[in-house]
Amino acid sequence: DRISNIRRWRRPTPSSTFTASYKADPDPSKINLGVGAYRDNDGKPWVLPVVKKAEQAIVADGSLDHEYLAIDGIKSFTDASVRLILGAASPAVAEKRYAACQTISGTGAVRLGADFLARFKMAPVYISNPTWANHRAIFTDAGFKDIREYKYWNPKTRGLNLDEILATFKAAPNGSILLLHPCAHNPTGVDPSFDQWKMIAQVAREKNHVIFFDCAYQGFASGSLERDAQAVRYFVDSGFEVLIAQSYAKNFGLYNERTGCLSIITRTPQLAQNASSQLCKIVRANYSNPPAFGARIVSLVLNNPQLNAEWEQQLKTMADRIISMRKALFEALTQLGTPGTWNHIVDQIGMFSFTGLTPAQVKVLHDKYHVYMTENGRISMAGLNTSNVRRFAEAVDWVVR
Ligand code: PMP
Repeated sequence: DRISNIRRWRRPTPSSTFTASYKADPDPSKINLGVGAYRDNDGKPWVLPVVKKAEQAIVADGSLDHEYLAIDGIKSFTDASVRLILGAASPAVAEKRYAACQTISGTGAVRLGADFLARFKMAPVYISNPTWANHRAIFTDAGFKDIREYKYWNPKTRGLNLDEILATFKAAPNGSILLLHPCAHNPTGVDPSFDQWKMIAQVAREKNHVIFFDCAYQGFASGSLERDAQAVRYFVDSGFEVLIAQSYAKNFGLYNERTGCLSIITRTPQLAQNASSQLCKIVRANYSNPPAFGARIVSLVLNNPQLNAEWEQQLKTMADRIISMRKALFEALTQLGTPGTWNHIVDQIGMFSFTGLTPAQVKVLHDKYHVYMTENGRISMAGLNTSNVRRFAEAVDWVVR
């Protein structure tokens, strides 16, 4: 009886489980810093006004049907996605040197890329340590046997471990796959500077490594779509063939619509067509074709200059609120004279911050102060607001003393 031999998989504690125990906690001063989604200053989810507008326009249009999409999704959506990440003026766009496929959000994009690489490029894959927990799982399930890590975080400086990164990529076998976070590294919030990206590119070029960018936060990190894309654009403009996974969960707030894109930038248009056909082959045997609604919204917004401008503004609202919470937390800790250095809170970027708090301190924060955060010391800046940031700073002050 085989099924009786199956062991139980312990589900991770993602934001949903987190939120359940947070909700059940009757303490009025509780703080949820585990959420992986944007919250406004009242701690509420935010549907972007431009998304609401687009939804209404799509429904009002009257032509909405529920026919199947193409295997690789809505072309106006995938084309716009490539322009968004590479820039409309990119030669790769003009020369049609890309294969782009609509995916089940960012997760599905990483998985499709991993499946593609597993078929054609069985090499070791390097993921950062630490990284988003799903990276290892995705590459394992895609069949990768050789998953290695590069040390990304330097606990002493609470910053980037550039020397280790470069040394690891130099020592890696030629043609290895490097999975990189182009902006707002999850979970550390630490990104290489532009000069540091150039150094990473230099090593990758010497060793002929394959670059896979997992881009889940474009525009959400700095508030500027261009700035958050600068690493990807640099690699592509200097001639790399790269894979790019994009997610519209964070920057459009379309979390559950599962809207994303995988693109492969190639040397020739012919190679792009070959790659595109292979992506379709993988999707076809997996889920046949993607869901439409989220991609319809994104396509409408990205392809309409007026809506696009509104979106950029609202994206900036989210990024700016998060940046202002970093400042507020830093200032509160400085005011309290909390032992240790806290510059990293303002130097880091994006939704998450690696505080450097230990699991034991995290436990005290939970038990004594009803703070909900992951054991590794990561906090979601989106969970902070003007009403709770001071209280959180005081709690941190208490546990580190
Ligand atoms: N990659 C990274 C690094 C992420 O942080 C996330 C979101 N947690 C994703 C991919 C994918 O998210 P989604 O599937 O919701 O787009």
